[in-house]
Amino acid sequence: MTLDPAFVFSQHSLGDYLDCPRRFYLKYIARQPWPLIETPPGDMDVMAYRAYLQRGAVLHRWIERYWLGLPTPDAATLSDEELRTWWVRFQQADFHDLPPVRLPELELVAALDEARIYARFDLLALSAPEDPETRAVIVDWKTLRGTQPPSFSFLRQRIQTRIYLYTLVTASASLNNGRPLEPEQCTMRYWLANFPQQPWVEIPYSRTDYERDSQFLRDLIAQIRQGRNETDFPMTSDERQCTFCTYRTLCRRTGTPDAPPPDEELLMPDLSSVPDVEY
Ligand code: SF4
Repeated sequence: MTLDPAFVFSQHSLGDYLDCPRRFYLKYIARQPWPLIETPPGDMDVMAYRAYLQRGAVLHRWIERYWLGLPTPDAATLSDEELRTWWVRFQQADFHDLPPVRLPELELVAALDEARIYARFDLLALSAPEDPETRAVIVDWKTLRGTQPPSFSFLRQRIQTRIYLYTLVTASASLNNGRPLEPEQCTMRYWLANFPQQPWVEIPYSRTDYERDSQFLRDLIAQIRQGRNETDFPMTSDERQCTFCTYRTLCRRTGTPDAPPPDEELLMPDLSSVPDVEY
């Protein structure tokens, strides 16, 4: 059993492979149904955890509606305190410095040799075509919890950051009258709903970063493609990755108590294999 030659890679699938090659095998090659629900982080119970994930999904939909000019809820009518807090912070946030063309939930597919890489941006803010200082900002809404906001270096190294910026630069001609954007014209901004004292972190990009990410993704995809059978996709040696993994019973792993909670976005649907899906 090998990977479909037409498989479209994404932050979900490549992130799974980096976390654990066996998880990639089970999910994308064997297509093994998930036998377990996600384990909540810390002392949160399952229902509270699911409600938290659901809130994040609802926030994303409301923000999309906001940028599309569609009706959105009145914060005063919201009974869910956490969702109301996030929504009020979004409504009060200042986005005037973003380029004026706002494209929510934008999907792009970029080529990398024979492979294709898929990204779905929460928002792409782009300069008007006539603007001589063309720039593009990917904005990602994050509801990460914690005592401290995520650091610049953590966000810079995330597979999501590397894939999104690579995909934007590579596919940018389709957004810019046929002229590709230079990496230096592109940035990625994480908006942090839970950290009003530091509401966003912005990651710049450069030609050097782009070349490095291209090679990183090329090597990673080649390594995955070389897998010929199940044994080529070993279990991770980092058992913290098992803590929130739904394949724990298959692997007879339990995880560890010191595992960091997973990124809530990676628990949302992976749309890379169905880029035309509507939801
Ligand atoms: S339980 Fe652990 S070893 Fe098994 S797929 Fe998940 S992360 Fe990998």
